[in-house]
Amino acid sequence: ASRDAARTVLAAIAVTAATIDRHVDELGRLDSVAGDGDHGIGMQRGATAAIAAARTAVADGAGAGSVLERAGDAWSDRAGGTSGALWGIILRTLGARIGDTGSPTAASVADAVAAAADAVSASGGAQPGDKTMVDALQPFADTLRAETSAGADAAAAWRTAASTATTAAADTAELQARRGRARTHGDHSLGTPDPGAHSLALIVTAVADVLQD
Ligand code: ADP
Ligand code: MG
Ligand code: MG
Repeated sequence: ASRDAARTVLAAIAVTAATIDRHVDELGRLDSVAGDGDHGIGMQRGATAAIAAARTAVADGAGAGSVLERAGDAWSDRAGGTSGALWGIILRTLGARIGDTGSPTAASVADAVAAAADAVSASGGAQPGDKTMVDALQPFADTLRAETSAGADAAAAWRTAASTATTAAADTAELQARRGRARTHGDHSLGTPDPGAHSLALIVTAVADVLQD
């Protein structure tokens, strides 16, 4: 069963990298409105390094948690930028929580995602409403927990949470940036969603398809 978990993690990281590849230009354009335009490139560098590290880890026989941790290390090492550091934290926190033994359950996945959201907030200092990836990640984590507590299986809960994250990411268009590079651009970003919230929504939406299988 833990072998299956490692393979699911590998598939999730693979669809993450493929999704980012398809959206590099879009993410760069979003980040050029009030940031420095490198969000697509940075995410692509990070996700490409993460999938390579995850493949090596699975070939070495690593469990799901270790695969996530090694992918997170590779992501933050290679991506550069704020989002790269935060995605490294997300994957490493998920890995530490999920661990290498046993089969992740809907509840343990929800707990791991909640811990990742807490770690991102603690590290970056952003609050909900600051127009960052937190504005997609926190509602994603909260919905995942609510759905699993209400008895949904992991795949169904994840899909509902991804839909919440997608709406929440789009809603960041109405927010003023108060963190990260975009904060120095005043209200330039009004009308444009936060790039990091948007990429997070794209990723969790793509991963829903993996969990469905
Ligand atoms: P950089 O800003 O270093 O160029 P990226 O362009 O890759 O990095 O990522 C920008 C994204 O990072 C923003 O759209 C936002 O979602 C996220 N971000 C920036 N600062 C923070 C923070 N303090 N907490 C959470 N997310 C943040
Ligand atoms: Mg940038
Ligand atoms: Mg940058």
